[in-house]
Amino acid sequence: MCRDCAPFPGVLPTTGPSAGEPPAGEPSPLPSRRTFTRFLAAGAGLTALAACTPATTEASLTSPAVSQAGVATGSPSPTPSTAATPTATDPASATSAAPPPSPVPSPVSPAAALAQQHSLTDPASPWLVVNKHRPLATPEYAPSDLVQPNVPLAVSGEASLLNSTTAAAAEQLFAAAAAEGVSITLASGYRSYATQVATYGSYVSSQGQAQADTASARPGYSEHQTGWAFDIGDGGGACGFQPCFAEQPAAVWAKAQAHRFGFVIRYPWMFHEITGYYYESWHLRYIGIEAASDMAKRGIATLEEYFGLEAAPAYL
Ligand SMILES: [Zn+2]
Repeated sequence: MCRDCAPFPGVLPTTGPSAGEPPAGEPSPLPSRRTFTRFLAAGAGLTALAACTPATTEASLTSPAVSQAGVATGSPSPTPSTAATPTATDPASATSAAPPPSPVPSPVSPAAALAQQHSLTDPASPWLVVNKHRPLATPEYAPSDLVQPNVPLAVSGEASLLNSTTAAAAEQLFAAAAAEGVSITLASGYRSYATQVATYGSYVSSQGQAQADTASARPGYSEHQTGWAFDIGDGGGACGFQPCFAEQPAAVWAKAQAHRFGFVIRYPWMFHEITGYYYESWHLRYIGIEAASDMAKRGIATLEEYFGLEAAPAYL
């Protein structure tokens, strides 16, 4: 469940009592806590660490936002994933009968091999990495090229917008899915700093900051504020913003195909110790076809690992 994603102004409730936009700042109906609890009980390990709604304030300006890739910090993988396994091109594994492998100080970020490099800190860069350790350098940043993509919309207002690059890629992705008989809707796109402040603030008011941090992202820490990310639904409202969405055709298709259009599932299953957020099968992030395809090919699940950045399990 992404209580940060689902409940924010602009979302047209699919099951709510009335259509239209909830009042700004109104923590609209949250996905069933019972459903979520059951999921936890089932060992799913999910909780309400919502990625889609971050917020921030001052901390941003002192972000450790490192300059570039290449500073691998050995982010631990919570699963026996092969994500961080050196590839065949790793000099350490390339040696044949040589002495036992010595701890290789490694790694050059896999992304460094790509032809075109982009900033990891500029909000207008497709490689921007924003997480709980890396707020936006400009907290109130707003993309200058927001547009509404020509895709099935489940929202109106600012939430139906994306930056122009992401919008164009989204149109390709949605069209490809539709051609294969898979219905996908845009459930939430851009979210302004002001909206984030209101959403996060409503959680703080009603539940206190500690709880708010598990339910909504702090202002200035949200990918949604950059126009590079959006959440998907299936048009029927099935499991919207809930763990069970992962089994819906829209999510299954997106997980398998998104890289072809430049997207990654930003908060993958069981990588919350790195990304800071539990699995959000509905949250897609644009990074470009080359990088997304490279990640898929190498089996690298997170941007943190791909760009050699430290894990960001919680706010600093
Ligand atoms: Zn999201």
